[in-house]
Amino acid sequence: MRTKSYDIITVGGGLAGLALAKAMAEHGASVLVLESQTRFRDRVRGELMWPWGTAELVELGIYDLLMDAGGHRVPWLDVYRGPKRMVHRDLVNTTTPGLPSTTFYHPQMQEALSEAARAAGAEVRLGARVRGIRQDTTPVVVADIEGREVEVKARLVVGADGRTSSARKWGGFKVQRDPDQIMIAGLLFDDLPVPDDAAHIFPYSKFGLSVLFFPQGHGRVRAYFCYPAERGYRLTGKADIGRFIEESLKTGVPAEYYAKAKAAGPLATFSGAHTWVDHPYRCGVALIGDAAASADPAHGQGLSKTVRDVRVLRDQLLAHEDWDDAGHAYAEEHDRYYGINHTMESWASQMLFETGPEADARRGKAIPKWPKDPTRLLEPFYSGPDQVLDEAARRRFFGEE
Ligand SMILES: Cc1cc2nc3c(=O)[nH]c(=O)nc-3n(C[C@H](O)[C@H](O)[C@H](O)COP(=O)(O)OP(=O)(O)OC[C@H]3O[C@@H](n4cnc5c(N)ncnc54)[C@H](O)[C@@H]3O)c2cc1C
Repeated sequence: MRTKSYDIITVGGGLAGLALAKAMAEHGASVLVLESQTRFRDRVRGELMWPWGTAELVELGIYDLLMDAGGHRVPWLDVYRGPKRMVHRDLVNTTTPGLPSTTFYHPQMQEALSEAARAAGAEVRLGARVRGIRQDTTPVVVADIEGREVEVKARLVVGADGRTSSARKWGGFKVQRDPDQIMIAGLLFDDLPVPDDAAHIFPYSKFGLSVLFFPQGHGRVRAYFCYPAERGYRLTGKADIGRFIEESLKTGVPAEYYAKAKAAGPLATFSGAHTWVDHPYRCGVALIGDAAASADPAHGQGLSKTVRDVRVLRDQLLAHEDWDDAGHAYAEEHDRYYGINHTMESWASQMLFETGPEADARRGKAIPKWPKDPTRLLEPFYSGPDQVLDEAARRRFFGEE
Protein backbone atom coordinates (compact mmCIF):
# COMPACT_ATOMS: atom_id res chain seq x y z
CA MET A 1 0.00 0.00 0.00
CA ARG A 2 1.38 3.43 -0.93
CA THR A 3 1.74 5.79 2.01
CA LYS A 4 -0.77 8.52 1.41
CA SER A 5 -2.98 10.96 3.18
CA TYR A 6 -6.73 10.72 3.84
CA ASP A 7 -9.38 13.06 5.13
CA ILE A 8 -10.43 10.46 7.70
CA ILE A 9 -8.93 7.22 9.01
CA THR A 10 -11.07 5.08 11.29
CA VAL A 11 -9.31 2.75 13.72
CA GLY A 12 -11.79 -0.14 13.67
CA GLY A 13 -14.45 -1.38 11.27
CA GLY A 14 -17.36 -2.19 13.57
CA LEU A 15 -20.71 -0.41 13.32
CA ALA A 16 -19.07 2.91 14.29
CA GLY A 17 -16.15 2.91 11.85
CA LEU A 18 -18.06 1.50 8.89
CA ALA A 19 -21.16 3.69 9.26
CA LEU A 20 -18.99 6.81 9.53
CA ALA A 21 -16.90 5.74 6.52
CA LYS A 22 -20.00 5.33 4.38
CA ALA A 23 -21.58 8.57 5.60
CA MET A 24 -18.48 10.69 4.94
CA ALA A 25 -17.39 9.00 1.69
CA GLU A 26 -20.85 9.80 0.31
CA HIS A 27 -20.01 13.45 0.93
CA GLY A 28 -16.75 13.27 -1.00
CA ALA A 29 -14.31 12.67 1.90
CA SER A 30 -11.43 10.24 1.32
CA VAL A 31 -11.80 7.62 4.05
CA LEU A 32 -9.65 4.66 5.11
CA VAL A 33 -11.04 2.03 7.49
CA LEU A 34 -8.43 -0.10 9.27
CA GLU A 35 -9.98 -3.22 10.79
CA SER A 36 -7.85 -5.86 12.51
CA GLN A 37 -10.20 -8.80 11.91
CA THR A 38 -9.56 -10.64 8.64
CA ARG A 39 -13.26 -11.51 8.34
CA PHE A 40 -16.36 -10.51 10.27
CA ARG A 41 -17.31 -13.15 12.81
CA ASP A 42 -19.49 -13.43 15.91
CA ARG A 43 -17.76 -11.69 18.84
CA VAL A 44 -20.95 -11.58 20.99
CA ARG A 45 -21.95 -7.97 20.48
CA GLY A 46 -25.19 -6.02 20.45
CA GLU A 47 -27.87 -6.97 17.95
CA LEU A 48 -31.00 -5.10 19.10
CA MET A 49 -31.58 -1.39 18.65
CA TRP A 50 -34.52 0.23 20.42
CA PRO A 51 -36.82 2.57 18.39
CA TRP A 52 -34.54 5.59 18.81
CA GLY A 53 -31.67 3.57 17.31
CA THR A 54 -33.91 2.58 14.41
CA ALA A 55 -34.61 6.32 13.89
CA GLU A 56 -30.85 6.99 13.79
CA LEU A 57 -30.43 4.22 11.17
CA VAL A 58 -33.09 5.93 9.06
CA GLU A 59 -31.36 9.33 9.51
CA LEU A 60 -28.07 7.84 8.36
CA GLY A 61 -29.74 6.19 5.34
CA ILE A 62 -28.71 2.66 6.36
CA TYR A 63 -31.99 1.23 7.66
CA ASP A 64 -33.08 -0.32 4.32
CA LEU A 65 -29.59 -1.63 3.74
CA LEU A 66 -29.59 -3.48 7.07
CA MET A 67 -33.11 -4.79 6.55
CA ASP A 68 -32.05 -6.14 3.13
CA ALA A 69 -29.11 -7.82 4.86
CA GLY A 70 -31.35 -9.89 7.13
CA GLY A 71 -32.50 -7.19 9.59
CA HIS A 72 -35.66 -7.94 11.57
CA ARG A 73 -38.49 -5.70 12.89
CA VAL A 74 -39.33 -6.08 16.58
CA PRO A 75 -42.40 -3.96 17.38
CA TRP A 76 -43.10 -5.14 20.95
CA LEU A 77 -41.40 -5.05 24.33
CA ASP A 78 -42.38 -7.83 26.75
CA VAL A 79 -41.29 -7.76 30.40
CA TYR A 80 -42.00 -10.76 32.65
CA ARG A 81 -42.26 -11.60 36.31
CA GLY A 82 -41.23 -15.23 36.50
CA PRO A 83 -42.87 -16.91 33.49
CA LYS A 84 -45.81 -14.45 33.55
CA ARG A 85 -45.77 -11.53 31.12
CA MET A 86 -46.52 -8.28 32.95
CA VAL A 87 -45.74 -5.65 30.26
CA HIS A 88 -46.66 -5.99 26.56
CA ARG A 89 -45.77 -2.63 25.06
CA ASP A 90 -46.47 -1.57 21.47
CA LEU A 91 -43.29 0.36 20.69
CA VAL A 92 -44.46 1.74 17.35
CA ASN A 93 -47.54 3.39 18.80
CA THR A 94 -46.24 4.46 22.20
CA THR A 95 -42.73 5.83 21.58
CA THR A 96 -41.72 9.22 20.18
CA PRO A 97 -39.88 7.79 17.12
CA GLY A 98 -43.02 5.74 16.24
CA LEU A 99 -40.78 2.94 14.96
CA PRO A 100 -40.08 -0.67 15.95
CA SER A 101 -36.85 -1.97 17.41
CA THR A 102 -34.45 -3.49 14.88
CA THR A 103 -32.32 -6.61 15.25
CA PHE A 104 -29.62 -8.04 12.99
CA TYR A 105 -26.83 -10.59 13.05
CA HIS A 106 -23.76 -8.51 13.86
CA PRO A 107 -21.30 -10.01 11.29
CA GLN A 108 -23.95 -9.66 8.54
CA MET A 109 -24.43 -5.99 9.49
CA GLN A 110 -20.65 -5.41 9.26
CA GLU A 111 -20.49 -7.20 5.88
CA ALA A 112 -23.33 -5.09 4.46
CA LEU A 113 -21.92 -1.82 5.79
CA SER A 114 -18.40 -2.51 4.57
CA GLU A 115 -19.75 -3.20 1.07
CA ALA A 116 -21.78 0.01 1.20
CA ALA A 117 -18.79 2.02 2.47
CA ARG A 118 -16.66 0.67 -0.39
CA ALA A 119 -19.41 1.43 -2.90
CA ALA A 120 -19.46 5.02 -1.60
CA GLY A 121 -15.70 5.28 -2.27
CA ALA A 122 -14.13 4.41 1.12
CA GLU A 123 -11.14 2.06 1.32
CA VAL A 124 -11.86 -0.73 3.82
CA ARG A 125 -8.81 -2.77 4.86
CA LEU A 126 -9.39 -6.00 6.79
CA GLY A 127 -6.49 -7.65 8.61
CA ALA A 128 -5.02 -4.17 9.28
CA ARG A 129 -4.04 -3.72 12.92
CA VAL A 130 -3.38 -0.20 14.16
CA ARG A 131 -0.34 -0.02 16.47
CA GLY A 132 -0.39 3.64 17.43
CA ILE A 133 -1.25 7.22 16.62
CA ARG A 134 1.43 9.88 16.65
CA GLN A 135 1.01 13.62 16.48
CA ASP A 136 2.75 15.42 13.60
CA THR A 137 1.26 18.55 11.99
CA THR A 138 -1.72 16.23 11.50
CA PRO A 139 -2.22 12.87 13.27
CA VAL A 140 -0.38 9.88 11.80
CA VAL A 141 -1.65 6.33 12.17
CA VAL A 142 0.89 3.52 12.47
CA ALA A 143 -0.50 0.17 11.34
CA ASP A 144 0.49 -3.34 10.27
CA ILE A 145 -1.01 -3.88 6.84
CA GLU A 146 -0.21 -6.97 4.77
CA GLY A 147 2.75 -7.79 6.99
CA ARG A 148 4.35 -4.33 6.69
CA GLU A 149 4.36 -1.45 9.14
CA VAL A 150 2.99 1.65 7.40
CA GLU A 151 2.33 5.23 8.47
CA VAL A 152 -0.73 7.00 7.10
CA LYS A 153 -1.69 10.64 7.66
CA ALA A 154 -5.19 11.98 8.10
CA ARG A 155 -6.93 15.27 8.68
CA LEU A 156 -8.99 13.46 11.33
CA VAL A 157 -8.36 10.10 13.01
CA VAL A 158 -11.46 8.47 14.43
CA GLY A 159 -10.99 5.93 17.22
CA ALA A 160 -13.78 3.41 16.58
CA ASP A 161 -12.01 0.46 18.15
CA GLY A 162 -14.61 -0.58 20.66
CA ARG A 163 -14.89 -1.14 24.40
CA THR A 164 -11.20 -1.92 24.98
CA SER A 165 -10.05 0.93 22.70
CA SER A 166 -6.32 1.65 22.50
CA ALA A 167 -7.01 4.79 20.43
CA ARG A 168 -8.06 6.42 23.71
CA LYS A 169 -4.58 5.90 25.13
CA TRP A 170 -2.77 6.88 21.91
CA GLY A 171 -4.92 10.02 21.66
CA GLY A 172 -4.04 11.06 25.24
CA PHE A 173 -7.59 10.70 26.64
CA LYS A 174 -8.35 9.96 30.29
CA VAL A 175 -10.55 6.86 30.63
CA GLN A 176 -13.07 6.59 33.48
CA ARG A 177 -14.76 3.41 34.66
CA ASP A 178 -17.61 2.51 36.99
CA PRO A 179 -17.09 -0.34 39.46
CA ASP A 180 -18.13 -3.82 38.30
CA GLN A 181 -21.74 -4.54 39.26
CA ILE A 182 -23.11 -7.09 36.81
CA MET A 183 -21.75 -9.51 34.23
CA ILE A 184 -23.49 -10.31 30.95
CA ALA A 185 -23.04 -13.60 29.12
CA GLY A 186 -24.32 -13.88 25.54
CA LEU A 187 -24.98 -16.79 23.19
CA LEU A 188 -26.75 -17.13 19.82
CA PHE A 189 -29.35 -19.88 19.46
CA ASP A 190 -31.17 -21.40 16.51
CA ASP A 191 -34.60 -22.99 16.98
CA LEU A 192 -35.46 -21.10 20.15
CA PRO A 193 -39.26 -20.74 19.88
CA VAL A 194 -39.79 -17.38 21.63
CA PRO A 195 -42.29 -15.07 19.81
CA ASP A 196 -40.12 -13.16 17.35
CA ASP A 197 -42.07 -9.88 17.30
CA ALA A 198 -40.91 -8.83 20.80
CA ALA A 199 -37.78 -8.16 22.83
CA HIS A 200 -38.24 -10.30 25.94
CA ILE A 201 -36.86 -9.33 29.35
CA PHE A 202 -37.02 -11.74 32.31
CA PRO A 203 -35.73 -9.89 35.38
CA TYR A 204 -35.39 -11.87 38.60
CA SER A 205 -34.26 -9.06 40.78
CA LYS A 206 -34.26 -10.89 44.12
CA PHE A 207 -30.98 -12.51 43.04
CA GLY A 208 -29.92 -9.73 40.64
CA LEU A 209 -30.44 -11.99 37.61
CA SER A 210 -31.95 -11.26 34.23
CA VAL A 211 -32.43 -13.03 30.89
CA LEU A 212 -32.88 -11.17 27.61
CA PHE A 213 -34.09 -12.70 24.35
CA PHE A 214 -33.59 -10.61 21.21
CA PRO A 215 -35.07 -12.51 18.23
CA GLN A 216 -33.61 -12.13 14.75
CA GLY A 217 -36.40 -14.03 12.93
CA HIS A 218 -36.71 -17.66 11.76
CA GLY A 219 -36.05 -19.03 15.27
CA ARG A 220 -32.65 -17.33 15.60
CA VAL A 221 -32.35 -15.56 18.95
CA ARG A 222 -29.51 -13.81 20.78
CA ALA A 223 -29.87 -14.74 24.44
CA TYR A 224 -28.14 -12.99 27.34
CA PHE A 225 -27.87 -13.96 30.98
CA CYS A 226 -26.98 -11.16 33.45
CA TYR A 227 -25.75 -11.87 36.99
CA PRO A 228 -23.97 -10.07 39.84
CA ALA A 229 -20.21 -9.58 39.34
CA GLU A 230 -19.65 -10.65 42.97
CA ARG A 231 -20.41 -14.24 41.94
CA GLY A 232 -16.91 -14.19 40.49
CA TYR A 233 -17.30 -16.54 37.47
CA ARG A 234 -17.38 -16.04 33.70
CA LEU A 235 -19.31 -18.32 31.36
CA THR A 236 -17.20 -19.05 28.28
CA GLY A 237 -16.88 -21.71 25.63
CA LYS A 238 -18.86 -24.86 24.84
CA ALA A 239 -18.26 -26.39 28.27
CA ASP A 240 -20.33 -23.65 29.95
CA ILE A 241 -23.40 -23.78 27.66
CA GLY A 242 -25.24 -26.18 29.99
CA ARG A 243 -24.61 -23.86 32.95
CA PHE A 244 -25.71 -20.81 30.90
CA ILE A 245 -29.09 -22.50 30.33
CA GLU A 246 -29.34 -23.82 33.88
CA GLU A 247 -28.69 -20.38 35.41
CA SER A 248 -31.02 -18.67 32.91
CA LEU A 249 -33.89 -20.94 33.96
CA LYS A 250 -33.65 -19.53 37.50
CA THR A 251 -35.25 -16.30 36.23
CA GLY A 252 -38.50 -18.09 35.36
CA VAL A 253 -37.87 -18.46 31.61
CA PRO A 254 -40.04 -21.36 30.38
CA ALA A 255 -37.83 -24.46 30.06
CA GLU A 256 -39.44 -25.38 26.72
CA TYR A 257 -37.64 -22.46 25.06
CA TYR A 258 -34.34 -24.27 25.47
CA ALA A 259 -35.65 -27.81 24.88
CA LYS A 260 -34.74 -27.96 21.18
CA ALA A 261 -32.59 -24.82 20.91
CA LYS A 262 -29.13 -25.24 19.36
CA ALA A 263 -26.18 -23.02 20.24
CA ALA A 264 -25.10 -21.24 17.04
CA GLY A 265 -22.09 -19.18 18.12
CA PRO A 266 -19.53 -18.63 20.85
CA LEU A 267 -20.45 -18.09 24.52
CA ALA A 268 -18.69 -15.08 26.05
CA THR A 269 -19.08 -12.93 29.18
CA PHE A 270 -18.39 -9.22 29.73
CA SER A 271 -18.57 -6.76 32.61
CA GLY A 272 -21.48 -4.32 32.43
CA ALA A 273 -19.40 -1.48 33.93
CA HIS A 274 -19.49 1.75 31.95
CA THR A 275 -16.16 3.02 30.61
CA TRP A 276 -16.05 6.48 29.09
CA VAL A 277 -14.05 9.53 28.15
CA ASP A 278 -15.24 13.05 28.90
CA HIS A 279 -15.15 15.26 25.79
CA PRO A 280 -14.11 12.58 23.25
CA TYR A 281 -12.14 14.85 20.90
CA ARG A 282 -8.63 16.29 21.12
CA CYS A 283 -5.85 17.27 18.70
CA GLY A 284 -7.28 15.71 15.53
CA VAL A 285 -8.52 12.50 17.19
CA ALA A 286 -12.25 11.87 17.77
CA LEU A 287 -13.62 8.83 19.58
CA ILE A 288 -16.98 7.31 18.61
CA GLY A 289 -19.06 4.27 19.60
CA ASP A 290 -17.82 2.17 22.50
CA ALA A 291 -14.37 3.80 22.31
CA ALA A 292 -15.99 7.07 23.43
CA ALA A 293 -18.31 5.45 25.98
CA SER A 294 -19.40 1.86 26.42
CA ALA A 295 -22.70 1.57 28.21
CA ASP A 296 -23.91 -1.46 30.17
CA PRO A 297 -24.83 -4.09 27.55
CA ALA A 298 -27.61 -5.33 29.85
CA HIS A 299 -29.62 -2.21 28.92
CA GLY A 300 -29.05 -2.49 25.15
CA GLN A 301 -28.25 1.16 24.39
CA GLY A 302 -24.75 0.84 22.88
CA LEU A 303 -25.66 0.38 19.21
CA SER A 304 -28.14 3.26 19.28
CA LYS A 305 -25.61 5.57 20.92
CA THR A 306 -23.03 4.47 18.37
CA VAL A 307 -25.17 5.49 15.39
CA ARG A 308 -26.06 8.73 17.19
CA ASP A 309 -22.29 9.41 17.51
CA VAL A 310 -21.82 8.75 13.80
CA ARG A 311 -24.65 11.06 12.81
CA VAL A 312 -23.60 13.89 15.13
CA LEU A 313 -19.94 13.70 14.05
CA ARG A 314 -20.96 13.57 10.37
CA ASP A 315 -23.21 16.60 10.77
CA GLN A 316 -20.52 18.60 12.56
CA LEU A 317 -17.85 17.72 9.99
CA LEU A 318 -20.16 18.81 7.18
CA ALA A 319 -21.11 22.03 8.98
CA HIS A 320 -17.58 23.25 9.81
CA GLU A 321 -14.68 24.23 7.52
CA ASP A 322 -12.38 23.81 10.51
CA TRP A 323 -12.56 20.17 11.66
CA ASP A 324 -11.02 21.05 15.01
CA ASP A 325 -14.17 23.11 15.70
CA ALA A 326 -16.28 20.21 14.40
CA GLY A 327 -14.54 17.76 16.74
CA HIS A 328 -15.17 19.93 19.80
CA ALA A 329 -18.81 20.51 18.83
CA TYR A 330 -19.32 16.74 18.48
CA ALA A 331 -17.65 16.08 21.85
CA GLU A 332 -19.85 18.61 23.66
CA GLU A 333 -22.98 17.09 22.25
CA HIS A 334 -21.72 13.57 23.05
CA ASP A 335 -21.21 14.52 26.72
CA ARG A 336 -24.82 15.70 26.89
CA TYR A 337 -26.57 12.63 25.53
CA TYR A 338 -24.17 10.08 27.02
CA GLY A 339 -24.66 11.79 30.41
CA ILE A 340 -28.40 11.09 30.15
CA ASN A 341 -27.76 7.48 29.20
CA HIS A 342 -25.33 7.00 32.09
CA THR A 343 -27.72 8.43 34.70
CA MET A 344 -30.68 6.45 33.37
CA GLU A 345 -28.75 3.17 33.38
CA SER A 346 -27.52 3.74 36.93
CA TRP A 347 -31.16 4.09 38.07
CA ALA A 348 -32.24 1.00 36.13
CA SER A 349 -29.35 -1.08 37.46
CA GLN A 350 -30.18 -0.01 41.01
CA MET A 351 -33.75 -1.16 40.43
CA LEU A 352 -33.02 -4.45 38.65
CA PHE A 353 -29.69 -5.70 39.93
CA GLU A 354 -29.24 -4.57 43.53
CA THR A 355 -30.03 -7.28 46.09
CA GLY A 356 -31.07 -7.20 49.77
CA PRO A 357 -34.14 -6.14 51.77
CA GLU A 358 -33.90 -2.43 50.88
CA ALA A 359 -33.69 -3.23 47.16
CA ASP A 360 -36.63 -5.67 47.48
CA ALA A 361 -38.71 -2.94 49.18
CA ARG A 362 -37.80 -0.45 46.42
CA ARG A 363 -38.95 -2.91 43.79
CA GLY A 364 -42.08 -3.81 45.73
CA LYS A 365 -43.12 -0.18 45.49
CA ALA A 366 -42.19 0.43 41.85
CA ILE A 367 -42.67 -2.68 39.74
CA PRO A 368 -46.43 -3.27 40.36
CA LYS A 369 -47.07 0.17 38.76
CA TRP A 370 -45.30 -0.67 35.49
CA PRO A 371 -47.96 -2.87 33.79
CA LYS A 372 -50.60 -0.11 34.00
CA ASP A 373 -48.19 2.57 32.78
CA PRO A 374 -45.14 1.25 30.90
CA THR A 375 -43.94 4.83 30.29
CA ARG A 376 -42.69 4.69 33.90
CA LEU A 377 -39.88 2.50 32.50
CA LEU A 378 -37.66 5.56 31.76
CA GLU A 379 -38.63 6.76 28.31
CA PRO A 380 -35.12 7.62 27.02
CA PHE A 381 -34.41 3.85 26.85
CA TYR A 382 -36.87 3.54 23.98
CA SER A 383 -37.36 7.07 22.62
CA GLY A 384 -33.78 8.30 23.07
CA PRO A 385 -31.73 10.79 25.06
CA ASP A 386 -33.63 13.85 23.81
CA GLN A 387 -36.46 12.84 26.15
CA VAL A 388 -36.64 14.55 29.50
CA LEU A 389 -34.83 12.72 32.30
CA ASP A 390 -35.42 14.71 35.44
CA GLU A 391 -36.36 14.24 39.08
CA ALA A 392 -40.01 13.66 38.10
CA ALA A 393 -38.97 10.85 35.72
CA ARG A 394 -36.83 9.33 38.49
CA ARG A 395 -39.70 9.46 40.97
CA ARG A 396 -42.13 7.89 38.48
CA PHE A 397 -39.64 5.08 37.75
CA PHE A 398 -39.08 4.34 41.44
CA GLY A 399 -42.84 4.47 42.09
CA GLU A 400 -42.47 7.41 44.48
CA GLU A 401 -45.49 9.15 42.97
C1 LIG B 1 -22.44 -8.87 25.41
C2 LIG B 1 -22.86 -7.59 24.77
C3 LIG B 1 -24.19 -7.40 24.44
C4 LIG B 1 -24.60 -6.20 23.86
N1 LIG B 1 -25.93 -6.05 23.55
C5 LIG B 1 -26.34 -4.88 23.00
C6 LIG B 1 -27.69 -4.72 22.57
O1 LIG B 1 -28.51 -5.64 22.64
N2 LIG B 1 -28.07 -3.53 22.04
C7 LIG B 1 -27.18 -2.52 21.92
O2 LIG B 1 -27.59 -1.43 21.48
N3 LIG B 1 -25.89 -2.66 22.25
C8 LIG B 1 -25.43 -3.81 22.78
N4 LIG B 1 -24.11 -3.98 23.06
C9 LIG B 1 -23.18 -2.87 22.76
C10 LIG B 1 -22.79 -2.87 21.28
O3 LIG B 1 -22.32 -4.13 20.89
C11 LIG B 1 -21.71 -1.82 21.06
O4 LIG B 1 -22.17 -0.59 21.57
C12 LIG B 1 -21.35 -1.66 19.60
O5 LIG B 1 -20.95 -2.89 19.02
C13 LIG B 1 -20.23 -0.63 19.47
O6 LIG B 1 -19.77 -0.58 18.14
P1 LIG B 1 -18.28 -0.10 17.86
O7 LIG B 1 -18.14 -0.09 16.38
O8 LIG B 1 -18.01 1.14 18.63
O9 LIG B 1 -17.35 -1.22 18.54
P2 LIG B 1 -17.09 -2.73 18.12
O10 LIG B 1 -18.34 -3.36 17.60
O11 LIG B 1 -16.44 -3.41 19.26
O12 LIG B 1 -16.06 -2.62 16.91
C14 LIG B 1 -14.71 -2.24 17.12
C15 LIG B 1 -13.88 -2.78 15.97
O13 LIG B 1 -12.55 -2.28 16.07
C16 LIG B 1 -11.66 -3.31 15.74
N5 LIG B 1 -10.36 -3.00 16.36
C17 LIG B 1 -10.06 -2.96 17.68
N6 LIG B 1 -8.78 -2.61 17.88
C18 LIG B 1 -8.25 -2.41 16.63
C19 LIG B 1 -6.96 -2.03 16.17
N7 LIG B 1 -5.94 -1.78 17.02
N8 LIG B 1 -6.75 -1.92 14.83
C20 LIG B 1 -7.77 -2.15 13.96
N9 LIG B 1 -9.02 -2.54 14.35
C21 LIG B 1 -9.25 -2.65 15.68
C22 LIG B 1 -12.33 -4.57 16.27
O14 LIG B 1 -11.85 -5.72 15.62
C23 LIG B 1 -13.79 -4.29 15.97
O15 LIG B 1 -14.20 -4.78 14.71
C24 LIG B 1 -23.65 -5.17 23.61
C25 LIG B 1 -22.30 -5.37 23.93
C26 LIG B 1 -21.90 -6.57 24.50
C27 LIG B 1 -20.45 -6.75 24.85
